Parts: sequence; C-alpha cells; structure tokens
Amino acid sequence: MQKIYITRKIPESGLNLLKEKGYEVIVNPDDKVLTGEELVSVLSGQNYDAVLCLLTDKINDSVFEAVGSKCKIFANYAVGYDNIDLMAAKSRGIVITNTPDVLTETVAEHTVALMLAISHRVAEADKFVKEGKYYGWEPMLLLGSDFSHKTVGIIGLGRIGSRVAYHAYNGFNAKIIYYDIKKNENFEKEFNAEYKENIDDLLKEADFVSLHVPLLSSTRHLINKDRLALMNPTAYLINTSRGPIIDEEALVFALQNKIIKGAALDVFENEPNLTPGLAQLSNVILTPHIASATEATREKMSLLAAQNIVAVLEGMEPLNPVK
Ligand code: NAD
Repeated sequence: MQKIYITRKIPESGLNLLKEKGYEVIVNPDDKVLTGEELVSVLSGQNYDAVLCLLTDKINDSVFEAVGSKCKIFANYAVGYDNIDLMAAKSRGIVITNTPDVLTETVAEHTVALMLAISHRVAEADKFVKEGKYYGWEPMLLLGSDFSHKTVGIIGLGRIGSRVAYHAYNGFNAKIIYYDIKKNENFEKEFNAEYKENIDDLLKEADFVSLHVPLLSSTRHLINKDRLALMNPTAYLINTSRGPIIDEEALVFALQNKIIKGAALDVFENEPNLTPGLAQLSNVILTPHIASATEATREKMSLLAAQNIVAVLEGMEPLNPVK
C-alpha cells in the first residue's frame, strides 16, 4: 500500500480522495507547525510515497534526504512555494506541485476588503465603538478616504493581481496602473490600464499600492525605505503576497512618520512575529495570513493538492507542477 504523510490537519476533501484511492494516509496528530528537525524525524525511515506540505514547512534538502528515494512528490497546499528548495527537489527527481487558480478569487476579495477597511478606518471604528467611546454622531469623527475613482497600482499582474484590478475597475471605477516583468496588452485594453516600466513611477502615482508578486530573491524587500518615500503621503500599501516583499522595519518608520497614510497586511516579514511598533499603530490593519481562508476555498486547495498526488502516484503528469 502506498503511504502519504500530511504535515498538518487540513480540510477533508483531499484526505477523503486519498483514502478512497486506497492509500495509507498519516496526518501529523499535533495541530502545530513541525520544525525542520521534527520534519526530518517524522519522515525518516517511513518510506512515504508522497508528502502533502504547507507553506509553513521549510522543505529543504535535509527533508528530501530524510523522506528517501521512494517519495515521488511534495504537494504544497498553497500557490506560493518559496518554502521549498526547488533546486534540491529537481536534483533528487521529486515533483513539486502547488494550488493555483482555486484561491485566486478569495485572495482578491480579501485584498479588496483590506483596501476598503483601511481607507474607511473600519478596524479603528470597530475598536472605538466596542471600547464604549461612541457618544453620538459627529461631523468630524473618524474621517477616512474614498476608494472609488482612485488610482490603484498593482505590482505583479498575475492571477490574483489581475483579479484585484478587475474588482477595482468594475466595482469602483478605479484607474488601474501596473508593474510586472511582463507587459500585458490585452489586459491594458480591457481595463484601460497603464503599464509602468519602472516600479518607482507606479509608486509615485498610485493611491493604493497592492502587492501580488511571488517571493523570490528579486522581490525580497522590493518595497524598502527609498521606495516608501516615493509614495504619496495620502497613499495606502496593501500586501497579501508574502511578508518579506516589504522591509517591515522601513514600513513601521514610514507609518510612524506619516510618510504614507496607512497599510493593510495579511503577511509579515518574520511570521508569526511582528516588527516592534507595527501592532501599536492605528493606521494599519493586520490579518493573520488568512487571505485564502474561506471554507470553500480551503476545501478546493485540499482537493487539488490531493489530486496532484494521485496523478503522480498513478504515473500521470501532475496538474500543477512547479518548475
Ligand atoms: P502568479 O504567478 O499568477 O502572479 C505573479 C505575478 O508576479 C506574475 O505576473 C509575474 O510575472 C509577476 N512577477 C514575478 N516576479 C516579478 C518581479 N520581480 N517584479 C514584478 N513582477 C513580478 O501568482 P498568483 O497566483 O497571482 O499569486 C501571487 C502570490 O500571492 C503568490 O506567489 C503567493 O506568494 C501570494 N499568495 C498569498 C496568499 C495569502 O494567503 N496571503 C494566498 C495566495 C497567494
């Protein structure tokens, strides 16, 4: 019987598929992230055929060494795969897969929710009311900014970035500008959008800057002290991609000194730890890496990760290979 290890409890759809296929499925019984040492220890000598892993698992060559040569695939339960050493996987002939598309709409929705929440000061206002500070309507109470008709700058116009642009353009009449390593003329025509060859030009112009690039060596600290200084003092920065895209210390400085108006972050540079000062700011909204966290989407991610495992173990091409 083929054996599969799952590094943490996930929604049932994927587990059910793997069990229906007759595989032996072992799920980490402790609902917590396994350290690198723990991963090596649980995988060693068990002859697993496949591993279903999460973005919180650091999958490096020691992990591949531990799992042994019988293992054919690590299926990541995420679209991002910066937690996996792809070169090491390739040199050992291990297939890596991810879960694109099924989470795009949910992450785009969360991004728009953050844009609206930060500009309308929703979290601040909620805290204000719950703390018993509301004594009646006031003309100058908690004034925010509009989102409609503003300029939205998308950095990384892939699946999620282009869906955020869709909502901003169709729902809020936003002007769309974007920066990506690839220019997309069809997108420009459909959304009346403008390509910026230089990220700095986008930062100077946008009212809302939304980050949707993968974490790579070329995108680490893409938003740094100098680039924050280029943004408008009335502008907001939104990040639902990966934390290290922003130099978080520089962001705290920029927010404390009103260099930008606000930020809404779903991801952090050293998750789950926050840079000192960040949580104390009133002009930030922080969500705990939940942009894809709806029940339906997490079930789809579970199923897709499992489908990739089934494909590889049945000798077929994976649905979502990462190269
Ligand atoms: P995608 O591959 O479809 O889009 C990424 C885009 O970034 C592409 O258009 C690519 O050309 C562009 N890009 C790559 N390198 C670049 C660079 N140096 N400069 C400018 N553009 C560059 O990916 P996606 O499905 O849209 O997902 C984007 C990212 O969102 C993922 O990599 C993941 O890290 C993150 N994500 C986060 C959550 C969450 O829970 N917060 C959920 C899903 C995805």
